[in-house]
Amino acid sequence: MTESTPLEKPTFGFRFDSSYANLPEEFYSRQPPTPVAHPSLVVFNEGLAADLGLEPKALKAAGAGIFAGSEIPPGARPLAQAYAGHQFGHLTMLGDGRALLLGEQLRPDGGRVDIQLKGSGPTAFSRRGDGRATLGSMLREYIVSEAMHALHIPTTRSLAVAATGEMVYRETSQPGAVLTRVAASHIRVGTFEFALHYGDANQKPELVRALADYAIDRHYPELRAHEDPYRSFLEQVLLRQAALMAKWMSVGFIHGVMNTDNMAVSGETIDYGPCAFMDTFAAGKVFSSIDRAGRYAFQNQPAIALWNLTRLAECLLPLLDRSQNRDAAVATAEAILASFPERFEAQWSSCLRAKLGLFTEEAGDRSLAQVLLDWMEASKRDFTLTFRTLSDQEAAASGSGDQAFADWYQAWQQRLQRQPESWSDAKSLMDASNPAVIPRNHRIEQVILAASAEQDYEPLHRLIRALALPFEDRPEFREFQLAPTADEQVTATFCGT
Ligand code: AMP
Ligand code: MG
Repeated sequence: MTESTPLEKPTFGFRFDSSYANLPEEFYSRQPPTPVAHPSLVVFNEGLAADLGLEPKALKAAGAGIFAGSEIPPGARPLAQAYAGHQFGHLTMLGDGRALLLGEQLRPDGGRVDIQLKGSGPTAFSRRGDGRATLGSMLREYIVSEAMHALHIPTTRSLAVAATGEMVYRETSQPGAVLTRVAASHIRVGTFEFALHYGDANQKPELVRALADYAIDRHYPELRAHEDPYRSFLEQVLLRQAALMAKWMSVGFIHGVMNTDNMAVSGETIDYGPCAFMDTFAAGKVFSSIDRAGRYAFQNQPAIALWNLTRLAECLLPLLDRSQNRDAAVATAEAILASFPERFEAQWSSCLRAKLGLFTEEAGDRSLAQVLLDWMEASKRDFTLTFRTLSDQEAAASGSGDQAFADWYQAWQQRLQRQPESWSDAKSLMDASNPAVIPRNHRIEQVILAASAEQDYEPLHRLIRALALPFEDRPEFREFQLAPTADEQVTATFCGT
């Protein structure tokens, strides 16, 4: 016997299920990824692999083909998901044009997560695209998504980036790569819009219901017992988005393309494109070179989340009133959506209080924080460093040499005196809420340049190590705490996707 039997094939710990494929067939299109010329692993997330029940060592040694899309892992039945999306306000039918869901990995802890390849070749939804991704943009997603996870912000994860050994053509010719993304699911607001608009004139209302039932089962199973599960679903998605926007803003994160296809109903951050963390604070900051009108600027993010949730509510209207009374359904949706500003403000205030070391609540806390933010903006201070330095009494008290700051500092110290917790408790809270290390743009660009131009992955690995413990002051990673110099500053993140 020279040939190995299928039983001897390594499983690498993959345990796939495919519950998504039980949805009506309109929701997906089955197909394999397109093999690539020379698969090689650029980065592999061993810790995440272990959490998923995969075999890190075996995959690191022999997984390049799988993570580049040249080999299909055992048990996977790849499919491209259909979805639509309001992109900069305009509705389009989209779908995975360069991604494939391999399946749902059943984790040892009982959880279920999507494993998706991004950049794995053309699909039925590619329109005019090549189905591919650049190494630079996939590394950006890997770095930032893993940094967000370390910052305790709900997000999709990154398991691997594999180079394809092929070039892709954007403005210039660049090395191609495939990202392996892990997500609670890839159900987007845009998936609901797809369900609503599919077939246009001959709409199929049952598609929205099937998707809503599936999303509830998968992400909000406790709602099944509710009297009005669809109404509760909208409320819960809204709550998670309100919390997510506050968390993004608390670390100075700007998503950059909050189209409805880039908002997950699970509440995870998804689809890292021209995203960025702010250095100097400016409430209206935009990095994305494709966002010319500033639709997705830093401070607009909560309003855009609400805009996107309104699109979700429109899709759910047929399900929001049992007697199918459209006016009653609209009134229900409006009441839920109207709660967003208050929900967001509560979350944002709570983040700001933690950043200022406040355990108790006072009416003036929000304006105390606002005065600091306004000062930061007026005097062009670094968002991350300003907050991080607050817990260092000497540095904060003397550091700025500025009367406006000194006044604020005094008011803040007085406020701290009015809570029972000690300074050392406040300091611990601040140090756990104000990161020392964030994925600064200029560092990401340096890493991408070294990787893309010189196949030098050392800077990448070092940055990933620095970002893994963002709340710790580690002298050996000091350079990643510093703000960019004038020469290093990056003002726009391009969309060379
Ligand atoms: P994104 O900007 O990554 O959120 O993608 C928006 C839509 O464009 C999605 O439907 C993607 O699948 C599709 N898309 C982006 N880049 C490509 C590409 N290179 N080839 C095919 N489709 C793409
Ligand atoms: Mg997208």
